[in-house]
Amino acid sequence: MNPQALNLPKIEVPEHPQWPAMSDPEKQALKARIRQKLEEQDAVLVAHYYTDAELQALAEESGGCVADSLEMARFGAAQSAQTLVVCGVRFMGETSKILNPEKRVIMPDLGATCSLDEGCPADQFTAFCDAHPDHTVVVYANTSAEVKARSDWVVTSGIALPIVNHLAEAGKKILWGPDRHLGSYVQRLTGAEMLMWPGSCVVHEEFKAVALERIRRLHPDAAVLVHPESPENVIEQADVVGSTTALIKAVSEMENREFIVATDGGIFYKMQQMAPDKVLIEAPTAGEGATCVSCAHCPWMGMNALQNLEQVLDSGENEIHIDEAVRIRAVIPIQRMLDFAAQQGIGIKDKGNA
Ligand code: SF4
Repeated sequence: MNPQALNLPKIEVPEHPQWPAMSDPEKQALKARIRQKLEEQDAVLVAHYYTDAELQALAEESGGCVADSLEMARFGAAQSAQTLVVCGVRFMGETSKILNPEKRVIMPDLGATCSLDEGCPADQFTAFCDAHPDHTVVVYANTSAEVKARSDWVVTSGIALPIVNHLAEAGKKILWGPDRHLGSYVQRLTGAEMLMWPGSCVVHEEFKAVALERIRRLHPDAAVLVHPESPENVIEQADVVGSTTALIKAVSEMENREFIVATDGGIFYKMQQMAPDKVLIEAPTAGEGATCVSCAHCPWMGMNALQNLEQVLDSGENEIHIDEAVRIRAVIPIQRMLDFAAQQGIGIKDKGNA
């Protein structure tokens, strides 16, 4: 089966949600109510780097965490709290549930998904894998529980390189899904034989190479930081290519004063917190005349806000449920990655994904 022949669903990218403005006292009162509800419900808040800065701040203030998706799930496992409130997109809630089956996992909006997840329906992906039984199936963490359950390995953006290298050295042919840009980046660096699923992230795909060249000329001393879900001609201009955690680290460790950042703008909260004296510049998205669907801010991540966080704590709705047979199969490739990381001495915390 040729990947080009796949008749994949068109991805509907939602408008960026507009949340009603709040005065500072209103915001503080809302945050105080949420903190109290978290405590009463033995719940902990785990937020992704791409969510709204207010949510990230609240997660930190209330004893929760702000992290990449896998670290979010691992943090949940280390907590005694019985409820995990995941602010992020749906596959993150699912990964938390896969690794913490005994806990209640709820999310502010179950409709918060991801173009990579949406663009990789489990039935079509399964048929694609079945058509290539001689390939080892490696999937990115940004996938549904069902797709993970069909895979041999789950990887994050940081650990993808050593795992694919390891498989290539063992003579394995790889079926990679769903992000074709990350897959091509890994293929270029490892030389592995890889069959690609044609998915992409609508946020990172918008970074534009020509406009980036222009902005680099205006800021010649700025370091360019790029997430590997971006197109090849954007990655080529990077001083650092890496996961969310790696890019945050680069801002605090590199000597440059200015940074041009090609990943979701939500990450600026953590970068600025780690390096308050540095100047952060958003990498350009839509070129002249183009239509910007995300403008470097994931619309699905934007579905998480203080307002619906309080609502979900009140209603107890939006719980993540995963069929137990699927969960048991999905945990195997995740655990394989964690075991590999432990054997190789690779800290997953430094190797996060979107
Ligand atoms: S930024 Fe891209 S990869 Fe991350 S959740 Fe949004 S659509 Fe998915």
